[in-house]
Amino acid sequence: MDDGCAQAGLMPVEEALQRLLALADGAPLEASERLPLAATDGRVLAETLVAGLDLPPWDNSAMDGYALRLADWQGEPLPVSQRILAGSAPEPLAVGSCARIFTGAPLPAGADCVEMQENVELLADGRVRFLQPLKARQHVRPQGQETRRGEVVLEAGTRLTPLELGLVASLGVAAVTVRRGLRVAVLSTGDELVEPGRTLGPGQIYNSNRQLLIGWLQRLGCEVLDAGILADDLAATRAALAGLHDAELILSTGGVSVGEADFLGAALREEGELALWKLAIKPGKPLTFGHFRGVPVLGLPGNPASTLVTFGLLARPYILRRMGVRQVEPLGFSVPAGFAWSKPGSRREYLRAQVQSGRAVLYPNQSSGVLRSAAWADGLVEVREHSTLSEGEAVRFIPFSELLG
Ligand code: AMP
Ligand code: MG
Repeated sequence: MDDGCAQAGLMPVEEALQRLLALADGAPLEASERLPLAATDGRVLAETLVAGLDLPPWDNSAMDGYALRLADWQGEPLPVSQRILAGSAPEPLAVGSCARIFTGAPLPAGADCVEMQENVELLADGRVRFLQPLKARQHVRPQGQETRRGEVVLEAGTRLTPLELGLVASLGVAAVTVRRGLRVAVLSTGDELVEPGRTLGPGQIYNSNRQLLIGWLQRLGCEVLDAGILADDLAATRAALAGLHDAELILSTGGVSVGEADFLGAALREEGELALWKLAIKPGKPLTFGHFRGVPVLGLPGNPASTLVTFGLLARPYILRRMGVRQVEPLGFSVPAGFAWSKPGSRREYLRAQVQSGRAVLYPNQSSGVLRSAAWADGLVEVREHSTLSEGEAVRFIPFSELLG
């Protein structure tokens, strides 16, 4: 593996993403399982879902009203020959009559038109007078208007949400084949780290990345192996990586700067499998990708806001693609900047921002160590490298809701 653009300037975010997606495409997770529909929210569909029936299965009424055959009607009131509720099987429509019908009930054979009950007059003798001109097929939901039997309804690689699950249920499918979650080991590196609940010693801080990443990975449908805190030590790093041979990805934070404390990089380099990318991204910049005895290792920068941004924009799509998801990039929206940006940077910036009255407003402290900015924010504003902005100019806003799931 080459050494990225370590010497030759910074690697654009798009290029890093394309490289990671190519790596993911080369290491797809094949394992899948068949589960009852109710257990598949958030999972990735591993099969192509083909409709086994027409939807709707028969012509039915879109209204509470009266069904008739238009050719039978010359403007005179019609007698009511049957009453058709949703869930019932109608008789063919008697010639010269109409049928009382309710929303979702099957149209009787012979009927081709529905009038809503608001537009009729019920006569004392029980007949129905139609008050408005009628058109063939009005208020009729035709058989197969949503789906024809044999049509592909969902492609393999679709992430299932309650919206897709509702559709699958409407086709009568009770179980689907989904990908197993990627087994991801989370390692937090740093001698200074302590888990919450313990007392801080001198120079120590609480480990926030572990909590951030474990919850996020679970939302992505991964199986998380919590590998705890790893000391800044080469032998310990080597041993920790070796112990995680069951993982399908080792995700570590911290210790990826090119500094002396880069033990992750050193351990991977010993295996001959390291790329260190210097990315044109802020917060972020250093990112490590390599393999330890066949297991892919992704090393994210340790500052919590850097971890957040590089995970959301790079690790998340990589992980989803490993699980077969085709559409892995978040939707962004154009919003007017509620701030000015006068100093162009050489890295693309992802600023923690809220949308207030339709404008992107920045958290005052954008330091990569400040996770509070993210908890405050609704999402990330993207300011492209080498660019300036005046207030009111359009910027891309990526809501956290797009990244978190
Ligand atoms: P590093 O990349 O290891 O040099 O870490 C960069 C900064 O992020 C340092 O200030 C670390 O203390 C901090 N940091 C690294 N890992 C974590 C973590 N898991 N939780 C909170 N802060 C961290
Ligand atoms: Mg460190």
